[in-house]
Amino acid sequence: MPASAGIAEIAERAEVPPTDIIMELLNRGVLTTINAAIDRDTARAVMRNLGVAIVDEPDVVDAAPVAAREPKKPDSAAPAEGDPRPPVVTVMGHVDHGKTTLLDAIRNTNVVDSEFGGITQHIGAYQVPVNGSAVTFIDTPGHEAFTAMRARGAGVTDIVVIVVAADDGIMPQTVEAIGHAKAASVPIIIAVNKIDLEAANPSRVLQQLTEHEIVVEDFGGDVVAVPLSALEGRGVDDLLEYINLTAELEELRAPVAGPAEGTIIETRLDHSQGPVATVLVQRGTLNVGDTVTTGEINGRVRALFDESGERLRTARPSTPVQVMGLDSMPEVGDPISVIPRQRKRRRQSRTPARGSGDQAMRLSLESLAAQMTAGRLQQINLVVKADTAGSVDAVVKSIDQLGDDRARAMVVYEGVGSVTESDVNLASAAKGLVLAFNARVDATAAAEAERQSVDVRTYRTIYELIDDVDAALKGSIKPEQVEVVDGRLEIRGEFRTERARQIVGGMVLSGRVYTGARVRILRDNEEIGTGHILTVRRFSDVVDEVRQGFDCGLAIETTTKIQLADIIEASHTEERLP
Ligand code: GDP
Repeated sequence: MPASAGIAEIAERAEVPPTDIIMELLNRGVLTTINAAIDRDTARAVMRNLGVAIVDEPDVVDAAPVAAREPKKPDSAAPAEGDPRPPVVTVMGHVDHGKTTLLDAIRNTNVVDSEFGGITQHIGAYQVPVNGSAVTFIDTPGHEAFTAMRARGAGVTDIVVIVVAADDGIMPQTVEAIGHAKAASVPIIIAVNKIDLEAANPSRVLQQLTEHEIVVEDFGGDVVAVPLSALEGRGVDDLLEYINLTAELEELRAPVAGPAEGTIIETRLDHSQGPVATVLVQRGTLNVGDTVTTGEINGRVRALFDESGERLRTARPSTPVQVMGLDSMPEVGDPISVIPRQRKRRRQSRTPARGSGDQAMRLSLESLAAQMTAGRLQQINLVVKADTAGSVDAVVKSIDQLGDDRARAMVVYEGVGSVTESDVNLASAAKGLVLAFNARVDATAAAEAERQSVDVRTYRTIYELIDDVDAALKGSIKPEQVEVVDGRLEIRGEFRTERARQIVGGMVLSGRVYTGARVRILRDNEEIGTGHILTVRRFSDVVDEVRQGFDCGLAIETTTKIQLADIIEASHTEERLP
C-alpha cells in the first residue's frame, strides 16, 4: 500500500468487500465512504482485524525528488515514468532579500494579464513560459508554506531558488532555507540579488555559501549562482534559463492520463464562490466536473481558473489551478485526489455486512430524521443510483443544495445502473439509505435490503426525491425553545412569606395568570428572580386562571422576596422551528 489509498482500491487489492472496511472504520467511530482515502497506519489497524497484512509501497510523492537527485548512472537507464512535466519552483530566502520582488518581476513580465484586466486574484502559484516550455512558481514567500507542505509529506517542489541580497550576504533565514532545500533533497539555484546596489558584494556571498556546503560552479562546485537585480529585472531571464536547464537534467515526469492527484497549496474563502483552493496538480488530469476528496473534505469541481483568472476545463501535472466546489476549507498541504467515476467493481463476495449492532432498526428516512433530532446523527447518508450519468449528476447536485449547517444530506456513493446488493451493504454500513432514480432494484438487492432493514426508495421524478430528502432534513432540524409571555400582574399585597413560597395579591394588568405558569419577577423592569405559580385564588376560591383587569391571590414558589409594586410575568416555553 502507498502512503494512503482509497477504500475501494484497498478492498480490491485485499479482495475483501469495501463495506467490511467501512464497517471496521465505523466501529472505530470513523464514518467514511467508499470513495474516501485512508492512510497506511489506519489501514494497517483496520485490515489486521480483517486478517489482511499491509505491505508498504515506497512513498511516491516524497521519494520522487530524492530519486531524481541520485546521479543518473548510465547503466540504470530505466526511463522515468509518465510524460515530461514542468518543474515546480519555490523561492526562499532571508526577509527583505527580494523574494517578493523577484516573484513579481517573473510574474509581471511573463504572466498574461486577464482580458478582464486588473481584477485578477493574486494566487499562490503561477506558470510562466520559458523557451517553449513552462516553469511553475509557488508564490508563497516565506518558509511556512514550504515546511507545512513538507511536514505533511507533500513534496511539491522540484527546485528551490534561494535569494541572497548581495549587499547583506548570508543571514539566518538564508541558512534555514538551505536546510529546507537539503532536507527535501532538491536542487538549489542561488539568486544573488540587488547587484545594482553599490554595496553589493556578490563574491562575498559565494564565499559565505561554501561555509554552508553550497559550492557554486565558479568555485568548482555544481550549484548555479545567478547574479540579478529583481528590481530592475536584470538577470531574471538568466535565472529562468538555469531553472529550465536544471529541470531538464532532473527529467521530471508524471502521467497526464488518469484521475488527478495533487496538493492544496493555498486556500481562501470567496464571498460568492465559497471555499476556493489553489491546487497543484501532480499526476493525471483534473477536469471540471470531477469529484474530488482530500480524505476529509469532498467536492465536485465546479470551475477551474488559472493564475490570470481564465477559466480552464482541465489542468495537467505541474499546473496550479484555483478549484471551486469544495464543500469546506481544506488545509494547506492536504493531498487532493479525484475519485474515479464508476470504478469497475468486481462482484463482491456474498459476505453480509457484519457487526453494526442495530440492524434490526429500520433505516428509513423518518428514523434517520428522528436520530438526527436526538442529536445522534449530523447528517443523512445516501447512496444514489440513477439510470444515466446525467441523472446521477442532477440528483447529486440537487441534494448538495439541500440542508444547511444544522442538517445535511451526504451522498456517500453514487452510480449509474440498478441498485445492487453492494449498494445496500454500503447504505447499511453508512447507516443510510438508497435512493434510486429511474433505476431498478435487482432481486438480491431487494432481499438484502429486507434482511438488513435498509430503506431503498425508488423515484420517477427528481422533484419527489428532492422533496423527500428536504422534508427529512427539515424534520430533523431541532426546534428552538421560545419563551411566550402570557400575562403580567402587579403586586398590590404581600400576605405571607415562607422559605420557598410566598402568598401575594395583585391585579392582572394584561393577559392572564394561571396555575403552573413559569414566572419572572421584575422590579423596576429588571428581573430579580424566577419561580412558578402553585395556586391562583379569586376571593377564597381556587381557580385555574384570572384574566386582565381582575384581582387575585397567588401562591408562588420562589426564593426571591417579592415586594409591593413588583411585576409578575407569567410565561411558558414553546418549540418553534427556527
Ligand atoms: P522579501 O522580504 O524577500 O520578499 O523582499 P522584498 O521583495 O519585499 O524586497 C525587500 C526590499 O528590497 C524592497 O524594498 C525591494 O524594493 C528591495 N529590492 C528587492 N530587489 C531588489 C533589487 O534587485 N535591487 C534593489 N536595489 N532593491 C531591491
